[in-house]
Amino acid sequence: MKSTNHYLLPGIAGTPDRSIPTDLLIGDRWREGGEHRRIDVINPSTGETLASVADATVADALESIDAAANAAAGWAATPPRKRAELLRSCFERMVANTDWLAQLISLENGKALADAKGEVLYAAEFFRWYAEEAVRLEGELSVAPNGANRIVVMYQPIGVSLLITPWNFPAAMATRKIAPALAAGCTCILKPAEETPLTAYAIAQIMLEAGIPAGVVNVITTGNPAAVVKAMLHQGRIRKLSFTGSTEVGRLLLHEAADTIINCSMELGGNAPFVVLDDANIPDAIAGAMIAKMRNGGEACTAANRFYVQRGVYEEFTKQLVAKMGAVKLGEGCSPDTGCGALINRAAVAKIEFLVGDALSRGARLLLGGKAPAGPGFFYTPTVLIDVPTGAEILKQEIFGPVAALVPFDTVDEAIALANDTEFGLVAYVYTSDLKAGLQISERLESGMIALNRGLVSDAAAPFGGVKQSGLGREGSHHGVREFTEAKYIAVDW
Ligand code: NAD
Repeated sequence: MKSTNHYLLPGIAGTPDRSIPTDLLIGDRWREGGEHRRIDVINPSTGETLASVADATVADALESIDAAANAAAGWAATPPRKRAELLRSCFERMVANTDWLAQLISLENGKALADAKGEVLYAAEFFRWYAEEAVRLEGELSVAPNGANRIVVMYQPIGVSLLITPWNFPAAMATRKIAPALAAGCTCILKPAEETPLTAYAIAQIMLEAGIPAGVVNVITTGNPAAVVKAMLHQGRIRKLSFTGSTEVGRLLLHEAADTIINCSMELGGNAPFVVLDDANIPDAIAGAMIAKMRNGGEACTAANRFYVQRGVYEEFTKQLVAKMGAVKLGEGCSPDTGCGALINRAAVAKIEFLVGDALSRGARLLLGGKAPAGPGFFYTPTVLIDVPTGAEILKQEIFGPVAALVPFDTVDEAIALANDTEFGLVAYVYTSDLKAGLQISERLESGMIALNRGLVSDAAAPFGGVKQSGLGREGSHHGVREFTEAKYIAVDW
C-alpha cells in the first residue's frame, strides 16, 4: 500500500532521499482526508513550511476506529511471541534508521540534532522493552480465603486504544504508547500533534515494513483535535485513552471520557524543582542541571523549572551555571554544532518573553540571555535569572524553554515546602552528597519521579508518570503494559 502524498526528506551525506507518507493511515490504506484539506508543517528553525499532511474529518476519525476494531480480534489472538518478534523488528529498524529519523525530528520540531538522535534511541527502546514484556503478561492464581474455590486472574487486552501525543518528543511519546498497547494485544489509533506529524507517519511506515499487520496501528492527523477527538470518545468503541500533553487539555479529555467511562492514562504537565544542598558536588550538580534544563532546549515535561539552591553554594552554583549556559550555541537544529535549537512556534517565544518580563518586574536579576534574537525562526537565548521572588509566574508555569530561574533557600524544610508548593508533581531533582538525606527528601517530595544526583529519569524500564495534576497512570516498565489490560477474575471450583 502506498501514500499518494509524501514529504521527501533530503538524504544525509550522500544517502538516498527518504519518502515519508503524509496521508492518513487507516486500516490497509494511506489516504487523504475526506475533505482533501491539508495541514502545513512548519520548520521552527526557519518559520518556513516544510510539508503538509492530511487533515482528518470526524468521519475519517470514526473510520480509523472501525479499522482498529476490525483488526482487534486477530491481533489479540496473535501469539505473544509473534507480537514480541514484530516489536523487536520495529526496534531494530528504528535504530538502523536513527540518522534520518533524527533529521526529520529536528526539522519539524526544531530541536538540536544530538537531542533528536537521543530521542530516536530512547523511542526505539520502548519497542525493545515491550517486545520483552509481551511474553511476560502473567496472571495470578490463588485459593479463596474460605477454601471454597480458586481465584484465577488473567490480563486481557483492554481494547481499541486512542493514543494522543504532543510535539515535544514526537517519536518517544508515540512509541511509549504504541509499544505497550501492541504488547498487551490492543490495536490503536495514534493522533500526533499537528506540529510534528511527519515523525509519526515515519514510525508507522517503519512498523508496516517490520510486518505489523494492517489496522493494528492507524494514524490520523487533524487540524481540529477538539471536535475529532470528542467524536471518537463518544463513538463507543474506544476503550482506552492514553494522552500525553498539557494538564489543561488532559482535564478536558477526562471530562469527555467520563461520558462513556473510558479508561484513561494521563501524562501531563510538570513544574520540576531542582534542589541543590550545601553538601552537593557542584560540578556534578551543574552537569545534571544542564541535562535537566537544556535537553530538548528546555521543551520537556521533565525540564527543571525552578532551581532551589542552598545559600552556602548559591553563588558558586550560579557562577558555574551561567558559564555553562553561556557556552551553549543557539542555532538551527540540524547544524552539527547547535546545542540549543528553536522553540516550537512564535507563541512559545512570546510565553517565555512574558515569564522573563514578569520575573524581572518583580525583582529577579538577569545574569545571562533574556532575548529573542531577531531573524527567522523561533529562538530564545539561554537565560539565567537569579533571586526570583516567590510570586513570579515563572515559578508557577512550565517555562518550556532554555531559561533557568534560581531561588536561594536556607533549610531543607524550606526547600521541600517550596518544591511542593505547586499543583504539579511529575519529577523533582535533588543533589546532595548525603544519600540518607537525599532519600529522606525524596520521600517527602510530592512527585511521581525523583532524580537523585542525576539530571535524567527517562528510561523505558522505569515507571514514568506524575502525581497531583501531572497525571494518572504510568508509562514504561511492566506498569506501562498493564495500562492497556483489564484484569479478568474467574472464580472456579475444581
Ligand atoms: P497540548 O495539550 O496542547 O497537545 C497535546 C495533544 O493534544 C496534541 O496532539 C493536540 O493536538 C491534542 N489536543 C489539543 N487540544 C485538544 C482537544 N481539545 N481535544 C483533544 N486533543 C487535543 O500539549 P503540547 O503543547 O503538544 O505539549 C506540551 C505539553 O505536554 C506540556 O504541558 C508538557 O509538559 C506535556 N508533556 C507531558 C509529558 C509527560 O510524560 N508527562 C511528556 C511530554 C509532554
